[in-house]
Amino acid sequence: MTFSTEVKNELCRVSMQRACCTRAEAYGALLHASSFSHKEIRLSTENAAVARRLQALLQRAFFIVCEPQRAGRKLQIALTQPAQIARIFDALGYDCKSHITYHLNRNVLEEDCCIAAFLRGAFLMAGSVAGPDKKSHLELKTPHQSLAGEETSLLLDLGLSPGQARRGGSFLLYFKDGASVEDLLTRIGAPRAAMELMEAKVEKNLRNTINRQVNCETANLVKAADASARQIAAIRAVLDAHGEEGFPENLRETVRLRLAYPTDSLAELAQRFVPPISKPGLSHRLRKIMELASKED
Ligand SMILES: [Zn+2]
Repeated sequence: MTFSTEVKNELCRVSMQRACCTRAEAYGALLHASSFSHKEIRLSTENAAVARRLQALLQRAFFIVCEPQRAGRKLQIALTQPAQIARIFDALGYDCKSHITYHLNRNVLEEDCCIAAFLRGAFLMAGSVAGPDKKSHLELKTPHQSLAGEETSLLLDLGLSPGQARRGGSFLLYFKDGASVEDLLTRIGAPRAAMELMEAKVEKNLRNTINRQVNCETANLVKAADASARQIAAIRAVLDAHGEEGFPENLRETVRLRLAYPTDSLAELAQRFVPPISKPGLSHRLRKIMELASKED
């Protein structure tokens, strides 16, 4: 199941309580219908939950009883009876003779609750959103430029500023920042999906922080191993040429311990002396060994 489908299924479970919101949600869906004219209203969707939701919205908001029909992969609700279409137009404040249907009648959306419901209906028909494993992206698509403009101002009123783009014959409103996507989903009735996106973001940040720390520690280990390898090569060069006599008495314990514990860090190696010596003390001795070896070349 895609994340968009998951979101739409969650939106379809929002209870239909207020009559104003039920009408507003139906309106959002109708403006994104494949056909919304005085001759025909046709709503199609691939999502069975959305089809049932549309059926319920039409019944509750406009007292229209209809049944979604299969049409290939899609489910369709088609209304052609003039009396039914007139009832819908009437409830939405449309003039039945006017053919300009794809514009937003803000009188139907007076309350904030209705604006959220309208956007829910619009998203059910024309929305998609990227899942938590992808980059943040939510979009709403319409073939009508004026509607895209009117929905942009609706979103701006909610404090959300969508980007606008054209793709083929469609106009897109989109959000690419995670906070806006989560905010919008929460407002239109999908707080669980919004939470899922938020949690994924937190987890990703945490993982990046851990990776950075691990990389840093690994780099330090590599540096320490390189230094140890150089010290051991230096010791061997002196030993090959002069044996242990090549080192003054005060460096011999250091030579023995370095050869015996090649993977020890400076701090670990310093602790092996009897009695233990300091890290700077050990550094000093190792530097002396390197100097002796450099005279061999
Ligand atoms: Zn309302």
